[in-house]
Amino acid sequence: STGRLVVIGGGFGGASAARYARIAFPRLDVTLIEPKATFVTCPYGNLLLAGERTLPQITHSYDGLKARGVRVVQDWADGIDATAKTVRLRGGQTVPYDKLILSPGIAIRWNAIEGYNEAAAEALPHAWVPGAGEQTTLLRRQLEALPDGGVVGFAIPPNPFRCPPGPYERISMVASYLKKHKPRAKIIALDAKDAFSKQGLFQDAWNELYPGMIEWVPLNKDGRVTKVDAREKVFETELGTRHKVDVGNVIPPQSAAKIAIDAGLTNETGWVPVNPLTFESVRARDIHVFGDANIGQVMPKSGYIANSTSKVAVAAAAAALEGRPAPGPTVYFNTCYSHVGDEYGISVVGVFRPTETGFAETPNSGGVSPRGPLAQQREQRRLEALYADAWYASITKDAFS
Ligand code: FAD
Repeated sequence: STGRLVVIGGGFGGASAARYARIAFPRLDVTLIEPKATFVTCPYGNLLLAGERTLPQITHSYDGLKARGVRVVQDWADGIDATAKTVRLRGGQTVPYDKLILSPGIAIRWNAIEGYNEAAAEALPHAWVPGAGEQTTLLRRQLEALPDGGVVGFAIPPNPFRCPPGPYERISMVASYLKKHKPRAKIIALDAKDAFSKQGLFQDAWNELYPGMIEWVPLNKDGRVTKVDAREKVFETELGTRHKVDVGNVIPPQSAAKIAIDAGLTNETGWVPVNPLTFESVRARDIHVFGDANIGQVMPKSGYIANSTSKVAVAAAAAALEGRPAPGPTVYFNTCYSHVGDEYGISVVGVFRPTETGFAETPNSGGVSPRGPLAQQREQRRLEALYADAWYASITKDAFS
């Protein structure tokens, strides 16, 4: 073996890293540490809320990785000793590494919104870290139980957070369900921002597909939720306005996952700064961090970026172990598709390059789907919904098969 590569986190970043390492660097010894037996994706969870996907359809096993020779250890990593180069598992075992790959995703900042703690999430689900699917399933059940004429409330965080278009895809998918099953219901979306990803496209679609159903309240109209009452289901804003809802989805402020914080890898922002060429932590040698946990700067916290950056990080780690220079600067692409209705998809594309200290969006690149009335864009929207399905099939294959 040319070295021991230990991967913490079997999500989009970590599973992709383990799979790619076995394919591209077959002499590496690869261990994946992940507490869950299977992985429920956040992508397409919003379609589950609309009743258009089932939990098994968005659940992936680690059997494919095992068949490739990845040693999958089902446990939590509880601590990292960067000097001894070991990972301590909750089960008591210690795992030594030559290079550590860390893609543990996000942690919710409990109580950043007053009253929003783990118990409150049982009444007002976040469904932003799906776990074994409990949170997404809970939100779906609440929507099913909503009376026609009821109110669904969303609390949406400031930047940066996991999946910039995610809350707005969710609003759209919930509206799609309500239009079919509870047409008198209303949605109020309270946002801690004044602008959001693909805003023009989303708002066009809301006006056209769900007229009068969705009220979006930006920061400058007192949109920031600062307090929740989980028992009464009330969202309270900065200026003290109280919004009573029947179903409430709180998408709370976030940080890098706990293991990254405990290992001292995060800075004052709560996210992990890295060398943009190798994804090696600037705070600890031989620990490469990518996915949502890293700052990433202008790159979105997406499964797409977690997958592509994972390969660069693994290539850099393998090169260092084999005494070769790290690969040269890479160009990153991101496409985030969103479903907003039946046969109605939209997307945003970004192109990014590493800079001295981070990443920058390449000028005059990327963009969003064309705007225009549905009558003109029907075929484009239909195709993009199909592209989204194809993207999901291919990325999950590239991570878990
Ligand atoms: P994750 O995929 O969350 O994986 C982290 C893993 O680490 C988890 O399995 C966790 O159990 C494990 N872990 C954490 N701590 C430890 C520990 N101490 N020890 C061992 N294991 C640990 N992205 C897109 O590109 N396209 C989309 O359409 C899209 N839609 C989305 C819709 C929603 C509703 C949401 C919420 C997100 C969406 N995303 C989408 C974003 C995408 O889910 C994330 O960007 C992606 O999951 C990030 O990958 P990651 O590897 O950083 O973290």
